[in-house]
Amino acid sequence: MPENEPVCVYCQRASEVVPLIQFIFDGEQHWICPEHLPVMIHHPMRLAPFLPGIGDAQREDAEDAE
Ligand SMILES: [Zn+2]
Repeated sequence: MPENEPVCVYCQRASEVVPLIQFIFDGEQHWICPEHLPVMIHHPMRLAPFLPGIGDAQREDAEDAE
């Protein structure tokens, strides 16, 4: 499997399986599927294992993780 194949940052599914939406975080390109776009919007802390630092600006959501 090519390492640079776009996959959803959350579920790791590729564009053969789901549509992927491209976004940039911390200057790097990533992809996320429509199913997990709401996770990034409402619960960005849940993406922290995949995108280190993404929750830093969303501290009010930290109650979920603690
Ligand atoms: Zn996904």
